[in-house]
Amino acid sequence: MKALPEILARIDGDEVVDLTRALVRIPSVYRPDDSDANEEKVAAYVEAWLRREGFAVEVQPVAPGRPNVIGSLGEKRPGRKSLLLEGHTDVVTEGDPREWSSPPFDAALRDGRIYGRGAADMKGGLTAAMVAAAAFRRASVEPGGKLVVGALVDEEDRMLGVRHLVTTAVGRELDAAIICEPEENELCLVQRGVVWARFRVRGHMAHGAMPEAGINPIAALGTMLRETPALEKRLRKRCERSRYLRPPTVTPTIIQAPPKGAGVPQSNVIPAVGEMTLDVRVTPGIGAPELHAELDDLCRVAEILHPGVKVEWEAVNPFRLATKVDRDEPIVHAMTHGVRKATGRAPRWGGVPGSTDGTILRMELGLPIVTCGPGNRLIPHQVDEYVEVGALLDAARIYAASALKYLEA
Ligand SMILES: [Zn+2]
Repeated sequence: MKALPEILARIDGDEVVDLTRALVRIPSVYRPDDSDANEEKVAAYVEAWLRREGFAVEVQPVAPGRPNVIGSLGEKRPGRKSLLLEGHTDVVTEGDPREWSSPPFDAALRDGRIYGRGAADMKGGLTAAMVAAAAFRRASVEPGGKLVVGALVDEEDRMLGVRHLVTTAVGRELDAAIICEPEENELCLVQRGVVWARFRVRGHMAHGAMPEAGINPIAALGTMLRETPALEKRLRKRCERSRYLRPPTVTPTIIQAPPKGAGVPQSNVIPAVGEMTLDVRVTPGIGAPELHAELDDLCRVAEILHPGVKVEWEAVNPFRLATKVDRDEPIVHAMTHGVRKATGRAPRWGGVPGSTDGTILRMELGLPIVTCGPGNRLIPHQVDEYVEVGALLDAARIYAASALKYLEA
């Protein structure tokens, strides 16, 4: 079988660098109040590139100025599989550009690294996926099934892009996905889940000089805060331990009384309402109903200890549970093989600290997902974000070799 050397020969280091830099130079921070700040321009660039390379391209309008771009090679015929190489086109804010060593959208190339917002998270990974898939066509190798490159929108916020993809035909016929997020090219089969739980405590408004006339929601919030370490402990008991993941955490991130829209804070007024948000991270082993019950319990404890308060909670976003994929999945075998063939080394294993678009593919479609991509996993969202050129090239080669193996008849 000489298809792999033919394909790998078509992955060019300079091209991978140039394309990554070109994508970084198109800012794609989403800013809801600026109709120009979205993924539209970078999506158009990706679309044109895929069309030039001979992909069948589908542009999926997800929201105004926010299209998914899906390029595919080959067909999903009976008995054949469809594999997604997944990336996202949005990036997080660059923060204060003066804090950067070089402007965040210049894509400076220094010391074997490309610097810029989105270099690692994840225009580098997206580039590696695009070039890996294009190499099939350049080498005139027909994939054994359907090879799909997805450049999706809104991963950093509500994951609208992937949520849309899973409702479409090209999404529903997928059999597996490689999530090209920056994970140091490790093969990650586990990832933590997240729930943002917003609690609303309703008491009774009163004068600060006569607290007995009111019911203070802040006192109940205090009780709930004191209970969070115990909740964290219970989650740690319930969830699986993984050498690749930090254990579950329960972290208060917002506390407001009165919250926005429920009056103005005043030093001598007991507010009627208080709110608190907990950022709850879990490892595999807990389902949505159990997590629901734990959060309900926290409300009940506050109500019992503070007669008269009413506590409710809601999830700020739909639940994103932890995911875990078995080592026996064909995609895992294909990637293990792919890493060896592409890099000459054994795979390294890892875990994903937060949730990704892969979470939705796993939860909604049950797809086996492996997260593997170029870039230090701690660097996303930081100032002076960068990706190493060597890691980019490795990633492109790993994707090509893994896809060839996975899709072969
Ligand atoms: Zn990302």
